[in-house]
Amino acid sequence: MNCRDFEKNIYVYPELTEKEKAGIDNHIKSCDQCAKLFRDLQQAQFIVKQIAEYEISPPNDARLTSAIMSRITQPSEPTWLDLVTQFFQNQRLRIALSIASSVLVFFFLFESSHKFIQPKNDMRETSESVILNATAFRQAASKRRNIQQPFAGCRSPFKSNQFFLECAKTKLLKSKSLKSTL
Ligand SMILES: [Zn+2]
Repeated sequence: MNCRDFEKNIYVYPELTEKEKAGIDNHIKSCDQCAKLFRDLQQAQFIVKQIAEYEISPPNDARLTSAIMSRITQPSEPTWLDLVTQFFQNQRLRIALSIASSVLVFFFLFESSHKFIQPKNDMRETSESVILNATAFRQAASKRRNIQQPFAGCRSPFKSNQFFLECAKTKLLKSKSLKSTL
């Protein structure tokens, strides 16, 4: 066995046959360089094995485990959703709600059928309604205008103030005589 063959085989030493292992062992005895490589490799493999088997355990691990477990098993506070769900899961409440909804549906059907059967009354009572009359509106508006501006007819941009005063006086006299005759 030469050094090249040795290097190829030492990495798979545990998987080699007894004959191949014997060849390796013989080479180590005659070659110092390969013997050193073999020792280094065995040491490295030992360390890797040790690390792989090493169990990482934090200090006071029992306390940590119990703290985690107590947090998991502790019952949480019920949320409002839980309470609402619980409320509606009540058997009696469910029955009551279904009865109430049935009654509502019945009343709705009864009401609609009642309206349907009743004849439509197109002749409505006029006493309860308002009649819109354009003439009445106009008359009321002109009446208001006359009250607010009793001397409106006397105003004119082409006449003097003296004319306005005379006009107003005659109108006043006229209304006074009208009132006295009534
Ligand atoms: Zn060698």
